[in-house]
Amino acid sequence: MTYDCQSCGACCFGLDVLLSDAEAARFERTPALAPLAALEHCAPGLMLRFMRKDPETERCLALEGKLGAWRCTIYGERPTLCRDLAPGAPDCLTARRVQGREG
Ligand code: SF4
Ligand code: SF4
Repeated sequence: MTYDCQSCGACCFGLDVLLSDAEAARFERTPALAPLAALEHCAPGLMLRFMRKDPETERCLALEGKLGAWRCTIYGERPTLCRDLAPGAPDCLTARRVQGREG
């Protein structure tokens, strides 16, 4: 089975997309990317950066469009976690199931 990411977009909802230290630094110094990263206090002394999500829909704020026609607005600069999530991989299938994109 093949998966069309632009139609699906499921993994851009709900997931906590952690930025590596290098990515966090790159986002911080890039004006267009900085607002898309949220700093979270995860444990005493531990601050991590994640992609910022819409609080109601949990949609990554870098995602534009609608079901059937999604677009990552920072595709060329998206975090490693997004690059590594291969269509058809277990995390993809979980995201599709959670977001009702089965079949
Ligand atoms: S859940 Fe899978 S098919 Fe859907 S956008 Fe992500 S990688 Fe692509
Ligand atoms: S950065 Fe792009 S690919 Fe990654 S979750 Fe956000 S919209 Fe999806």
